Amino acid sequence: MSLRLRLILSYVAVASLVFIVGIVGIITAEQITNSADVIIKSTSPSLTLLGQIEAAGNNMRETVIHHALFRKISAASIEDQEYKDAVDELKTHLEEFKAVTNEPDAYEAIAAAVPDYVARTQHLLDVANTSTQDAELYQAALGIDAAEEVFQSAIDNAITEEQAEFQLNILAAQNTSHTAVAINLISIVLVLGAALALGVLIARRILQPIVQLQTAATRMMNGDYSQRASIGTNDEIGQLSTAFNMMSESIQKRDTDLIAANSVLEKRVEERTKELRVATREAQEASRLKDEFLAIMSHELRTPLNAMLGFQGILLMTAKLDDRSLHMVRRSQANANRLLTLINDILDVSRIESGRMQFVKSNVSLADLIERLQSQMGVLADEKLLKFNVNLDPALPPTIFIDEDAITKIVTNLLGNAFKFTEKGSVTLDLSQKDNNLVIAVTDTGIGIPPHMHDAIFERFRQVDGSSKRTHGGSGLGLAIVQKLAVALNGTINVQSVVGEGSTFTAELPLETVNEAEKVAVS
Ligand code: ADP
Repeated sequence: MSLRLRLILSYVAVASLVFIVGIVGIITAEQITNSADVIIKSTSPSLTLLGQIEAAGNNMRETVIHHALFRKISAASIEDQEYKDAVDELKTHLEEFKAVTNEPDAYEAIAAAVPDYVARTQHLLDVANTSTQDAELYQAALGIDAAEEVFQSAIDNAITEEQAEFQLNILAAQNTSHTAVAINLISIVLVLGAALALGVLIARRILQPIVQLQTAATRMMNGDYSQRASIGTNDEIGQLSTAFNMMSESIQKRDTDLIAANSVLEKRVEERTKELRVATREAQEASRLKDEFLAIMSHELRTPLNAMLGFQGILLMTAKLDDRSLHMVRRSQANANRLLTLINDILDVSRIESGRMQFVKSNVSLADLIERLQSQMGVLADEKLLKFNVNLDPALPPTIFIDEDAITKIVTNLLGNAFKFTEKGSVTLDLSQKDNNLVIAVTDTGIGIPPHMHDAIFERFRQVDGSSKRTHGGSGLGLAIVQKLAVALNGTINVQSVVGEGSTFTAELPLETVNEAEKVAVS
């Protein structure tokens, strides 16, 4: 049976119980009304009749004794007409009285008293009509009084009886009503009990499978995917549990697959890690061999180069050469110098990258540094007819504590580029202080650098014009060295440039003024 049908049937059952209570209530109310009816029906006509009898008797006595006969007795002078009217009235009342007491429901005692009463009244009338003796009349009237007393006591008895019956009826009606109320209460309690039992039963039937399902779901949530819901009903909860079981089955399967895949992956990772370790070892070995090779090669290259440069210098100073030979010696000297610079640059990059470059800080006089740069770069400025400006911020300390070789390399590389890529205008070196940093800014009015190359030019061997026909010489290592040195000194370097207008390279290095010499190995 489906859950919905079960719920609907339960509601119908509860409604039926409520309906039964209602019916019982209606029936008992009917009973109460019936008994009240019985009381009213049985009591009111009797009381009405008794009232009527009493009223008729009273009227008669009133007329007989007070208005007429006693007057005749006590005052013989009363008009005859008045007396006649009184007698007529009495007759009428007598007839009325007879009529009332002749009713079939009239009480026995009253009925028994009536003939005597009527006879005595008749006798009074007869005496009044025939006799002139006041004494006779008086006796007849006394007879009526006696009859009336009997009659009155009969009426009183009848009323008392009636009232007693009335009381009994009321008691009976009260009992009926109490019974009806008790029945009502009992049926309400029974129905409530039945509804409660039904509710508990339904709740248990509906909740039990849900609780089972929830327990299974909680266990599954905690990682136990072997959980299955054991609900064998065909209702919605049964369908839900079937779906749940299918879901947990597929999760369990996926879980098993995942574990298998994971172990395969772990194995692969292990293998790859092993390979990687081997590769790293090989790479480290290769790097060591490369460094060794570079060191040997640079030594091997620099020794003959230095010898060549030495001989070329001697040649230029001492030998009498013709113009062509002079030109050739100078060109070979320039090429030897370029080769030496290239070798030195490659060695520098290699040493900084491998962390083998040693930085030795010392007190460097800014004025001396500027003087050296001016004499070194002044030649280039003069050659190209460029203006070379140097501005030193007076706020800067006269000496700074820094690696002299590194700062010299940074500034000469930047100035060398500025002069190389500027054909007219000026090159300016600004040394200033910002926060706790030394700011080195080299500005030129040269060819500028396109925006997409602003980052790339700091990489090794990257040049804006990388073609074989480029007009400017250079290895493409200068800015890479500058950036690596700036970073090694805990500083930064950046460029701002507009093509055709010029460039500004700004290096910021931590400003130290400590006088102690210390050796810092940058790893
Ligand atoms: P290079 O030996 O080629 O000068 P660098 O690393 O010093 O190598 O510079 C890389 C490239 O950056 C240069 O080839 C040039 O294209 C560009 N560059 C560097 N400085 C300037 C500058 N002041 N003005 C224009 N271009 C510049």
